[in-house]
Amino acid sequence: MGDVLKQYINGEWKLSESGNTREILNPATGEVIAEVTEGIRADVINAVAGAKAAFYENGWMDTSAVERARLLFKLADVLESRAEEFYKLETTNNGKPIRESSVDVSDACACLRYYAGFTTKPHGVTYDVPDDMQSLVVREPIGVCGMIVPWNYPLLMAIWKIAPAIAAGNTVVFKPSEITPLTAIKLFEIIDEIGFPKGVINLVLGDGPNVGDELARNRDVEKIAFTGGTSTGRSIMKAATSNIKKISLELGGKSPNIVFEDADFETAVDYALFAIFCNQGQVCSAGSRLLLQESIYDKFIERLVERAKKIKVGSGFDESTEMGPLISQNHMNKVLSYIEIGKKEGAKLVCGGNRITEGTFGKGYFVEPTIFVDTLPDMRIVQEEIFGPVLVVQKFKDEKEAIKLANDSCYGLAAGVFSNDIAKAHRVIRKLRAGITWINTYHPTYNEAPWGGYKQSGIGRELGTYGYEEYTEVKQININLDVKPTGWFAK
Ligand code: NAD
Repeated sequence: MGDVLKQYINGEWKLSESGNTREILNPATGEVIAEVTEGIRADVINAVAGAKAAFYENGWMDTSAVERARLLFKLADVLESRAEEFYKLETTNNGKPIRESSVDVSDACACLRYYAGFTTKPHGVTYDVPDDMQSLVVREPIGVCGMIVPWNYPLLMAIWKIAPAIAAGNTVVFKPSEITPLTAIKLFEIIDEIGFPKGVINLVLGDGPNVGDELARNRDVEKIAFTGGTSTGRSIMKAATSNIKKISLELGGKSPNIVFEDADFETAVDYALFAIFCNQGQVCSAGSRLLLQESIYDKFIERLVERAKKIKVGSGFDESTEMGPLISQNHMNKVLSYIEIGKKEGAKLVCGGNRITEGTFGKGYFVEPTIFVDTLPDMRIVQEEIFGPVLVVQKFKDEKEAIKLANDSCYGLAAGVFSNDIAKAHRVIRKLRAGITWINTYHPTYNEAPWGGYKQSGIGRELGTYGYEEYTEVKQININLDVKPTGWFAK
């Protein structure tokens, strides 16, 4: 193994003040693939000081939009030219099949280019207000932005946050998941190489309760952008009260995918599989609850199970692999424990349900594609986010019942509807309490469109204009066009 990998703080590669290291594993083999420095609160404090100086003292807040766009385009170009290195590393550290990690890298480049282009486009407004005044409204950067992301899309989640924050003129302190820091560390090699001024983008490494909490709590961090679990989101919200920092939270989900009897059958089956088993089910917006109309219930399940049994599980590096390992032993055990809960609750297991242990599989964290049918709304496997390859199927009679079941959740991230009656599909979508919705498809995500949830799935939106605005403050400037004393007080 090579040297201990470092943090990037104020333009320099640094070992943590802790002197400790953390081993990073390949989830397909359980092997140690890298050793990284283990950050502590003091490292965050240093990184924040660098980001604060870069913003307020060293001129970043006055950088032109053209210059920020140039840097983001350059970052995209270099990332694209090294794409293979990045997606292979992502598959090694996260386990996802190459065909998914390669899309993550190209999506990351597209997102960088979207915000690079966007950088020079925002404009303010003017209002004709009374009293011979001209009132202008401008958007300005917030300042130092802290960012915390999970392990399921390590590189892409980094870019979803860094790109709009830099486009809007902020400085950044970024923390990847402690389980999957490798592509972020490599990204910072490029950030270093292409000449972002020192302190503008910083990388801290380490766990949530210390390093993440310090970022959320630190009084010089003016905004915290978080993607991860809902209970962590709750802790971050509390920590952020220290200085009433701006927050955006992209949290968990238990998203319904509704299939009506008039849907295109094979298309709906295909997307039902894609909705839950893509990225091993470790997707916040996964269609983890499949709602089937009673007239097609049995036939649909039969075809679904037939197809799910054929999903090829294996190493992400095998090009024929369709599902890789789960991220870690802990997470695999959590998913397996939910499968046991489902059985105890009386749901009917019709596909999978086991860890795969034959041969080399036994060293990794592989779980079969799993399907429970005949589930009831109050079962834990129906209500709680499992975040793995486990689908729960529910039956409904009509449109009204489908909407009721779909909305019976504390989450509200995503939802899908399959029907060839477009008026009905649209009517149903408008009744679903979810921020990201699809008709006759599932999962496509666009840089142009806002990403985020209702209810306990989060606060704020990423991507598009909405995502950019989350990294700005709004200022009104009132200009007096009739300059004379107010005369309010006697002379
Ligand atoms: P997690 O909440 O355990 O961890 C996410 C990040 O938060 C990690 O970097 C972790 O170190 C950090 N963290 C943990 N505790 C913290 C604390 N007390 N203070 C500050 N930071 C802390 O989530 P995970 O297991 O890495 O990811 C899975 C979760 O992420 C799922 O719930 C999933 O739905 C959610 N997710 C949501 C979206 C979205 O866009 N809504 C996208 C991807 C993942």
